Amino acid sequence: MDNPIYLDNNSTTPVDPVVLEAMLPYFTKHFGNPSNATHAHGERASGAVEGAREQVASIIGARPREIVFTSGATESNNLAILGAARRYRSRGNHVVTTSVEHKAVLGPIRELEREGFLVTVLGVDSTGRVSPQGVADAITERTLLVSVMTANNEIGTLQPIDEIGRICCERGILFHTDAAQALGKIHIDVEMLRVDLLSISAHKMYGPKGVGALYVRSNGAGSSIESLVYGGGQENGLRSGTLPVPNIVGLGVACQLACDHLTTEPLRLQELKRRLRDSLLGGLQNLQIHGHPSEHLPGLLSVGFPAIDGDALIHSLSEIAVSQGASCSSGSFEPSHVLLAIGLSDDLARATIRFGIGRFTTAEEVDYAAAYTVRIVRRLQDLFADRSLKATRIPVPQG
Ligand SMILES: *Cc1c(COP(=O)(O)O)cnc(C)c1O
Repeated sequence: MDNPIYLDNNSTTPVDPVVLEAMLPYFTKHFGNPSNATHAHGERASGAVEGAREQVASIIGARPREIVFTSGATESNNLAILGAARRYRSRGNHVVTTSVEHKAVLGPIRELEREGFLVTVLGVDSTGRVSPQGVADAITERTLLVSVMTANNEIGTLQPIDEIGRICCERGILFHTDAAQALGKIHIDVEMLRVDLLSISAHKMYGPKGVGALYVRSNGAGSSIESLVYGGGQENGLRSGTLPVPNIVGLGVACQLACDHLTTEPLRLQELKRRLRDSLLGGLQNLQIHGHPSEHLPGLLSVGFPAIDGDALIHSLSEIAVSQGASCSSGSFEPSHVLLAIGLSDDLARATIRFGIGRFTTAEEVDYAAAYTVRIVRRLQDLFADRSLKATRIPVPQG
């Protein structure tokens, strides 16, 4: 299929045409360098960046000067985790995180371990939730930082970050949350949640790829993080480099749009997800819906298809663009660490499909995708039901 139905909005989203429209003048017409506001070109670019900073701050209840623009949530997570640990190295050597974090969190945490920090990786229950009490118990006198994601990118589970924020606040420990999946889908307020550091990615919320932000709580006592990139001192010295003005404008407008639709769009996504789930459950027996039944990201449905070869399944579902519960890392397909962490077998993790419904998904597309998936899965079930076929591989359709 040349143009499968796009149901992979948790992997990335298309740029909203309104976002693109706002970005375009900043490539050719208003191309100035915002760091050089001694003439009108730079001034206009600088004004646009500051406008976007207000839009980003506003969606999370922050102040504009607490927003640092980065290249995306991967960089934001690295800056938060490495930056905080290096800043407070003299005070402690311990960080706490969970087993279901994105690799953009687990990566810098592994790096801290190599640098001699101690790391506690908390497990989760079968719905993917970490226990706040578990976080409290893990904290020691040497703990510097707790990092727990807001919403999981594979199964959609929301973490109890309000409770974790309160615990960290009481113990005087920095709290970082990766909100790349959550922003624009659930209400987030950094004051209410008491987070100190929060990561944002534009391309998960209908903005462009290659830009994001880190919220850094300003506490009056200097920054809580050290920079990872040295140079011209942009972004209060926390992230040197000429600012990508069109991308930043896009991120700002993406935040504005998400904010404008926050009371209606999540309900629509939730309804489409219910529709998809009910159709799948109606057409197939023995499905497993992963994640938490209520504390869940709207639009994301993670489904396990027991007793089916996951590789055959993903290759057979050629008319829809979805993700498999396994990803290619260094050349081999490994079952997802998140799905293993909630207790799935390797086989069920591989036979798990993530449906990601987004802003441009229609009810017709959802209905088609559900009926199509039921048809393909039934066909594979028939093939697998024949034991003599079990040992042989299902032929994978080409293309
Ligand atoms: C996509 C994603 C990231 C990485 O964001 P980039 O902007 O692509 O670097 C990090 N964390 C989570 C939870 C994500 O979903």
